[in-house]
Amino acid sequence: MTHQFPALSPEQKKELNDIALQIVSPGKGILAADESVGSMAKRLTQIGVENTEENRRFYRQILMTADDRIKNYIGGVIFFHETLYQSTDDGTPFINVIKEKNILAGIKVDKGVVTLSGTNGETTTQGLDGLAERCAQYKKDGADFAKWRCVLKISATTPSALAIMENANVLARYASICQQNGIVPIVEPEILPDGDHDLKRCQYVTEKVLGAVYKALSDHHIYLEGTLLKPNMVTPGHLCPTKYSPEEIATATVTALRRTVPPAVPGITFLSGGQSEEEATINLNAINKCPLPKPWALTFSYGRALQASALNTWRGEKENMQAAQNEFMKRAEVNSLAALGQYEASSEGEGAASQSLYIENHAY
Ligand code: 13P
Repeated sequence: MTHQFPALSPEQKKELNDIALQIVSPGKGILAADESVGSMAKRLTQIGVENTEENRRFYRQILMTADDRIKNYIGGVIFFHETLYQSTDDGTPFINVIKEKNILAGIKVDKGVVTLSGTNGETTTQGLDGLAERCAQYKKDGADFAKWRCVLKISATTPSALAIMENANVLARYASICQQNGIVPIVEPEILPDGDHDLKRCQYVTEKVLGAVYKALSDHHIYLEGTLLKPNMVTPGHLCPTKYSPEEIATATVTALRRTVPPAVPGITFLSGGQSEEEATINLNAINKCPLPKPWALTFSYGRALQASALNTWRGEKENMQAAQNEFMKRAEVNSLAALGQYEASSEGEGAASQSLYIENHAY
């Protein structure tokens, strides 16, 4: 028989639960602005902007200084290390700018994926060495939550049992270290949309992956009330010839989650995974309207689907800053409505917001 030794005090548990609940309070989601320097290079190159520290800072300033309405839509911002310590033009640290709006700060703490040798191109995620010390420092510097992204792939031979087990375990180890340091872990086992698999296959794999993740979190004595899950929605593969309605995607997603994610988890914050801005909003709305019982907050933690229009509007020009902020605010507002199941899609379509944001074998 297994034995129980205390991992967290009642005060530590309360702090973690309060943080998680605040981030996903009704109508709020997360802005994932934690693109690494390498990922920012790809984003900035697309709009013809050089990937310098100043350009990255200026772009993030556009997002951080959006006006006060943003506090109704965004409960947390995930930063990359560099951005956590950057400031606005007038020298105010970004972290203070968002905290004034009651938005909590998060930090990406993983160090990217590495190949699992002997598999068909599968990966695990590294970054556990020194993680406790880094979490303690980030907490001192004002961060209250963290993100760690694991990646799984669907093909005829993947995900393998090894990849499922290894990634579940490393997520649990990360979550344990975060919680010991007062940091709410966002647990992200992303199943990539690459491939021609159908909706059913994605649902099956999502259930197997999430089942393994929650077994590992239990084995590692993780306090679920002080965590958030960041999964993919259950969607067909990018090359799947069959099209599915938002309602079909929503039913498959909620069914997979209901079978695997305990109700103790306060919130599920989806990644956008290459969906267009509009698709990500419509699918989130359908998920929240799905008639099945849903014991968790179901909201967004989008990178591309919150930022694509803003980035394309900015194009590196100072005078476009306000217009870019308007685009960001618009995406934040519609996703907030979708998180409440109250979004009404416009019948004219949404132009640029309908463009696919898919990137093959996406790295972050
Ligand atoms: P996307 O919403 O662009 O998929 O990214 C979210 C994220 O943080 C992935 O780790």
